[in-house]
Amino acid sequence: MAATQMEQLVSLCKRRGFIFQNSDIYGGLQGLYDYGPLGVELKNNIKAAWWRAMVYERDDVEGLDAAILTNRKVLHYSGHEDTFSDPMVDCKKCKGRFRADHLTDGKCPNCGSTDLTEPRPFNLMFKTTVGPVVDEDNIAYLRPETAQAIFTQFKNVVDSTSRKLPFGIAQIGKSFRNEITPKNFIFRVREFEQAELEFFVKPGEDEKWHEEWKNTRIAWWVEQGLKRENINIYVTPKEDLAHYAKACIDLEYKFPHGVEELEGIANRTDYDLGNHSKAQNELNLTSHCHENKESTTKLCIMDDDNKWVVPFVIEPSMGVDRAVLAVLTEGYTEEDLGNGNSRIVLKLKKHLAPIKVAIVPLKKNSPEIMAKCHELKKNLMKLGIGRVALENTGNIGKAYRRHDEIGTPLCLTVDFETLEQSPESVTLRDRDTMEQVRVPTAELAQYLRDYFAQ
Ligand code: ATP
Repeated sequence: MAATQMEQLVSLCKRRGFIFQNSDIYGGLQGLYDYGPLGVELKNNIKAAWWRAMVYERDDVEGLDAAILTNRKVLHYSGHEDTFSDPMVDCKKCKGRFRADHLTDGKCPNCGSTDLTEPRPFNLMFKTTVGPVVDEDNIAYLRPETAQAIFTQFKNVVDSTSRKLPFGIAQIGKSFRNEITPKNFIFRVREFEQAELEFFVKPGEDEKWHEEWKNTRIAWWVEQGLKRENINIYVTPKEDLAHYAKACIDLEYKFPHGVEELEGIANRTDYDLGNHSKAQNELNLTSHCHENKESTTKLCIMDDDNKWVVPFVIEPSMGVDRAVLAVLTEGYTEEDLGNGNSRIVLKLKKHLAPIKVAIVPLKKNSPEIMAKCHELKKNLMKLGIGRVALENTGNIGKAYRRHDEIGTPLCLTVDFETLEQSPESVTLRDRDTMEQVRVPTAELAQYLRDYFAQ
């Protein structure tokens, strides 16, 4: 049977060092993956592209990097302790546990039995204790979303930056959910990364901003190489909304296992800032909030008319691991080269490629050629284009095949002509067209600067 697209991707990721099963040598730990030498580069490049678009290219967003361990009270007042759960059923026959909404025909997906328990809520948060004493008072959680620290730090950010509405706070970091059924490779895992923006707006302007962020985010995904026709917009029906949301638009992607959520863009109203505020009765809140007697602060901001308002929040929330899976899916290509030859090419956008330029000496261990390669690498590193890798395998054909598979946009070959000819030049081979051009080394820096310019 031909391998499915997901099997091909999983195999490439392991073979070339993108993604490995966590704790592999002990049989793994379900729902956890580790990023290998190329995976870490790809993931970092995706995060850098997000940060650049969301923070650096705008003048209305600040960054934050908050702790993962979270005070229980934060997740109590946010509503996660009470409501962050999925309904699950247990199979009485095989003892499997599944999300009730993942069952078809009321049958156990594992053994087909219909002898199932009634759906019961299963809280998805990982609980731990902080400090040496293990008791109720020391309970803390691993955060299930990065967003809550943005809300609890809202006042500190406003006071230290003098921001006015509208403005946002962006954060990238790990989140943890004890998913009942982690599956589909890195699509649904128990430890993952999120890139979240909380964009604070005047109440009444929220719907306009929700629409604007939807369009901004779709455009960003297209810049990362996803075809627009592979992105689907799903408007969550009211009855399926998360406990904090007034509206939510999911950007779905055509993953190998089906069309599923890549990013959620929610209108969280004033729910979170309101929940974490003291003396809520003095605030003009639109949402229903927990009564909060433990917070020491009102999370509000002065508007242009010198009135205190609790802003509404629009939240584009991207899963970084799902972004990795999406760009890998989109880039994975098998090309027929004719005469029974084929190649695998990972057509990643240049800015996402783990290695930007591979310097490949024509001959292995030739001291003159290697000296030139080292000199070129040193000079290319100064361009700030990303990772430049130097190989010393002496097998050009194999190097090209490997770099096609891992998405390296350019291979740079140093041969004897490089050393002998005047002016000195090197060969650059393009991943997608496989065309080769000879570029004088004196012009190389400008050539590459133009090639990688964003
Ligand atoms: P799903 O319906 O797929 O469980 P969700 O609606 O619960 O996702 P959100 O709470 O909106 O997800 O989280 C924002 C983003 O975080 C999602 O769009 C997704 O990209 C990512 N994400 C959420 N849960 C996981 C997970 N278990 N593994 C990987 N990424 C996740």
